[in-house]
Amino acid sequence: MNPSIVWFRQDLRLHDNPALDAAVRQLGPILPLFIWSPSEEGDWPPGEASQWWLHQSLAALDKELQKKGSRLLVQKGDTAQILKKLIKKTNAAAVFWNRRYEPAAVARDAQIKCELHSLKIDVESFNAAMLYEPWEIANKQNKPFLVFTPFWNYYLSLQNPLPPLPAPAKLPFPSTWPESLSLGDLQLKPFIDWAAGFRETWSPGWQGAEHALADFLNQRLYDYKANRDLPDTIGTARLSPHLHFGEISPRHIWHAVQERLREEKRLSEPAWSFLRQLVWREFAHHLLFHFPHTATQPLRADFESFPWKNSQPQLRAWQKGRTGYPIVDAGMRELWHTGWMHNRVRMIAASFLVKDLLLPWQEGARWFWDTLVDADLANNSMGWQWVAGCGADAAPYFRIFNPVLQGEKFDPQGHYIRRWIPELSQLPTKWIHKPWQCPLNEQRRYGLVLGETYPEPTVDHSLARDRALTAFNQIKSRKIRE
Ligand code: FAD
Repeated sequence: MNPSIVWFRQDLRLHDNPALDAAVRQLGPILPLFIWSPSEEGDWPPGEASQWWLHQSLAALDKELQKKGSRLLVQKGDTAQILKKLIKKTNAAAVFWNRRYEPAAVARDAQIKCELHSLKIDVESFNAAMLYEPWEIANKQNKPFLVFTPFWNYYLSLQNPLPPLPAPAKLPFPSTWPESLSLGDLQLKPFIDWAAGFRETWSPGWQGAEHALADFLNQRLYDYKANRDLPDTIGTARLSPHLHFGEISPRHIWHAVQERLREEKRLSEPAWSFLRQLVWREFAHHLLFHFPHTATQPLRADFESFPWKNSQPQLRAWQKGRTGYPIVDAGMRELWHTGWMHNRVRMIAASFLVKDLLLPWQEGARWFWDTLVDADLANNSMGWQWVAGCGADAAPYFRIFNPVLQGEKFDPQGHYIRRWIPELSQLPTKWIHKPWQCPLNEQRRYGLVLGETYPEPTVDHSLARDRALTAFNQIKSRKIRE
């Protein structure tokens, strides 16, 4: 029988993988393929942190494939050319993949589908990444949702998503195996090894994802609602990079949570609070699919004339965790060290960039894109536009996070600050979120020399707040650009 090609992309798993399942149902040999083609990602080729993750995740996928009698074929370059060459070489009759929703991927995939159809190849794509795909959901006017709560209510009115598919028992190996690159040939791993903190923090791959989910369901789900905003506690699932790379499916997570709910009714509140977060991810993909310009431009067109500043030194201070505001700096250092930042701190750090420093949200989104292991165009664009006040269902622009009060509220003992900013670790809790208010004689006692061991605040928050509100008032109406 002619082989089928399964083109893996952001679905790096064997469980609940509809494209792989379709290939298995053909009953012929299967060629599991990955193509490294960053130039086909438009303005958003994977950043350094994502590349680190991708390398590990592909290695894990290859291992899983080997357990089933197969292996991963690795190529790089122009996807359409590679697919056509492989079809010719192996006599493949079908190509299967799971869909992506980013504008460049959508356009590329449609083009490839068309080209392969014209060669009489059986091409099919599937939903592996979403509970429901963006075009399956519409409001009463048959338009995309722009507000989260009705979107969530709509989800609640739907039937449970399809149950996850099992992993195939065996994967038949083709008689012709084309020459494969090694993973090392893709040069995804950094030349200078800066990734020690990543290795300490993460286990990329399907097994790592399964462990993360099991840990969360067994140990942290019950307290999720209470702990999810505390950056010093491991209170959330830490599944975002696994979800981005498709090492685990949202359907699998949804059903695993439902199962726990059936077993223990008292989990109801935290479980639904967690599932709601999973649906924020769906909302982000819904928005990016229907408003593809929002990766770089504000959803609310009026924000195009927002009087952003341009200060490289301030941008650099923010990126390096040297703004002088401990909660912002701790978050940015956590990001640099682990490739991840707690959601609450993402909001605070992002708000500081766009509202206190008046620097464009796109600068922050770019930095996150390069440094997050869970960098995801839909989630990142929505997150930044939400904070900047220019996106769907965004935080009103006049709601400006006070970094000191936020720190005191969500890291009351300062444990998070002490972990990521060792130069402040001796400071008593009452000064930990505002070291500049610590009396000079006390500063020395705690090893602090402001401006030397730790920066002075780069802006005065209350003046910055007034400046931001004045800038905001220059935007008159708040229209949405379709
Ligand atoms: P949990 O609380 O355990 O939630 C479970 C899952 O739900 C997450 O893994 C994630 O897939 C989804 N989720 C949770 N919160 C959100 C949210 N606010 N928006 C969308 N999905 C959500 N998330 C990314 O995956 N990639 C990004 O590039 C990204 N950039 C962000 C940028 C900014 C400025 C902000 C404010 C948020 C961003 N987020 C991003 C959303 C959120 O911070 C992370 O998804 C979350 O911190 C992941 O941790 P977790 O898996 O422990 O989350």
